[in-house]
Amino acid sequence: MEKPEALTLDSPVTALKNVGAKRAALYEKLGVRTVYDLLRFYPRSYIDYTSPVMAADAPEGENCVIKAVVTRRMQPAPIRKGLVLYKFIASDGVSNIQITIFNNEYAYYGIKAGEEYAFCGKFSKMGGRYQLALSSYVPAAEADTMRPVYNLTEGLANGMVHNNMREAVDRCAEQLADPLPLPLLREEKLCQLRYAIENIHFPQGREAYEIARRRLVFEEFFTLSLALVRLRGREREEAAIRLEDTDISPFLSSLPFELTGAQRRAIGEILSDMQKGFPMNRLLQGDVGSGKTMVAAAAVYAAAKNGVQSAVMAPTEILAGQHYATFSKVLAPLGVRTCLLTGSLTPKQKEERKEALAAGEIDLAVGTHALVQDSTAFARLGLVITDEQHRFGVEQRRRLAGKGESPHSLVMSATPIPRTLALIVYGDLDLSVLDELPKGRQPVDTLVIHSNKRERALGFIRDHIAAGEQAYIVCPLVEESESELLAAAQYRDRVAKAFPDIAVGLLHGRMKPAEKEAVMAAFQQGKVQLLVSTTVVEVGVDVPNATVMMVENAERFGLAQLHQLRGRVGRGSKKSYCILVSDNDGEENRKRLSVMKATNDGFVIAREDLKLRGSGDFFGSRQSGMPALAIADLFEDADLFKEAQEAARRLLAGDPALERPENSAIRVIIDRLFDQNKDAMN
Ligand code: ADP
Ligand code: MG
Repeated sequence: MEKPEALTLDSPVTALKNVGAKRAALYEKLGVRTVYDLLRFYPRSYIDYTSPVMAADAPEGENCVIKAVVTRRMQPAPIRKGLVLYKFIASDGVSNIQITIFNNEYAYYGIKAGEEYAFCGKFSKMGGRYQLALSSYVPAAEADTMRPVYNLTEGLANGMVHNNMREAVDRCAEQLADPLPLPLLREEKLCQLRYAIENIHFPQGREAYEIARRRLVFEEFFTLSLALVRLRGREREEAAIRLEDTDISPFLSSLPFELTGAQRRAIGEILSDMQKGFPMNRLLQGDVGSGKTMVAAAAVYAAAKNGVQSAVMAPTEILAGQHYATFSKVLAPLGVRTCLLTGSLTPKQKEERKEALAAGEIDLAVGTHALVQDSTAFARLGLVITDEQHRFGVEQRRRLAGKGESPHSLVMSATPIPRTLALIVYGDLDLSVLDELPKGRQPVDTLVIHSNKRERALGFIRDHIAAGEQAYIVCPLVEESESELLAAAQYRDRVAKAFPDIAVGLLHGRMKPAEKEAVMAAFQQGKVQLLVSTTVVEVGVDVPNATVMMVENAERFGLAQLHQLRGRVGRGSKKSYCILVSDNDGEENRKRLSVMKATNDGFVIAREDLKLRGSGDFFGSRQSGMPALAIADLFEDADLFKEAQEAARRLLAGDPALERPENSAIRVIIDRLFDQNKDAMN
């Protein structure tokens, strides 16, 4: 089928060789109608033929590439009706490998004896023999490439897409006009679209691929940000209190430690927002222990210095109490007047504090939801800080924000899951990331044990307490139920009996707020050495002297939750440990717990969590109302998202309606983005 007529980006895919109505219908299913669509249909992954392994070193049960010469072709063996097994023997120079192909006659007859190929497939050892279940191959001479693997649909093979793509790239890539303005490409050090498209489909090498991918990810985030900023640009018109004096050197020099580079950067971003005259809307994201609270304190300090009130909202009484203690310790010596406002206050106390707030005699109110209650009024509320965002509804935040003119808003979160990115998107939040831990932190060692090792683990805890340290034991429930779950209360009694010389405390959700506060205070002061608790300690609790966290029934917790729990230790300079107790040997549970053992990185954990739970494509989902991401990865590319978002803002500042000729191409893309989106939502 020769089709020599002119091929343009707008041509239907049927204008390509070997594409008839049938294949076009398959492409249509993938959202590909024109040659342009096809070029924008990025590979899902790649087979990297450039780094083959020897069979003797190949990882059992995994996909790998082996370069080998075919020494023998075996007769096809019909296994059962409609299923034929094809086999070869090949040699990598040292070992023989049996290559197996199921039901793919085409592949079998394409492979010649005496020739060398790079074979890719799942590797295994069967009774001492090496075996590779073939998924793809290339002649050895062509094995200097990364071969793209496309998302396919029944009836459309990777090789077909590959061939069509080759033709589309060869004949049409030249016609691609770059929608990104040239100065932007230069500023951001991005390659041209043409180069990116060529190398995303047919990378000239790893480096070329990286360059191509970066450019396409940037473009995707950039157009998305432009569209969103434009959609929600109205909010930006509100006026907010503007800070004049942002010299925070007294605050900095009063701290007992140096701030990390990441903390300083985040503070700089926040202060610059608050000088602008329109409301800050920023998310501060950092792994557990990265020091978000000090960043918040710097912002509060700057606000107070300008006669502006701040409110800090925490999800639990315990956290509110802890924040109050931290903020007042750091800020009171600098003249910042702070009060705690929680549901557990007496009516009289509440009355007094609210009056002081309304009269402007308080600079910072720290509290729980009680803070949002209608009767709380501020004299000049200019900054609202929300800790651990995921515990709050958007509505609550809005209500608190409604108490100021249009106060600046800072949201702190340790959760790097797409929910966070959803926030960026829905709320058009700016993002500051604390990607650096304070100096001297050691990674927490994590052990996974069966309950028959519990006695030993308790002995380990006792030894650490004897050395002056403290520990947590977390149990999932409060009261003993019929199930095997260990209840915190009974557990506490048992431990207290076994360790009469240790001060054991109990904390659970059904205690009265005042009781909780008392226990937490005792733990904070070291009067309680071992705290047996339900998950109320999950979020935010900060006792740097605690070095062991033991979690009972660890299978009951999600990965993100376990990470939060583990984040309660390793907050000082002492070596810390996390012991996960679980008798559940199910494969999924073992996998989850081994992730905890393998890494301390909250981003990695969040990502594994999603993988294991199979969250699906959040952005493409109907509820999200957002276009699916074609190439960007929400986790890996978070930095680039930020860059792209900033670039989008800059562009819109100079050309709000995207009317300039150099921006017309990008406008077309944006309009299309949300047209498609409307379809998806209907
Ligand atoms: P998170 O980000 O989890 O909320 P915190 O703000 O509670 O973390 O900080 C964790 C601990 O680290 C606290 O004890 C805090 O005082 C301490 N910390 C914060 N910043 C630094 C720093 N730059 N150097 C040393 N310790 C720090
Ligand atoms: Mg915190």
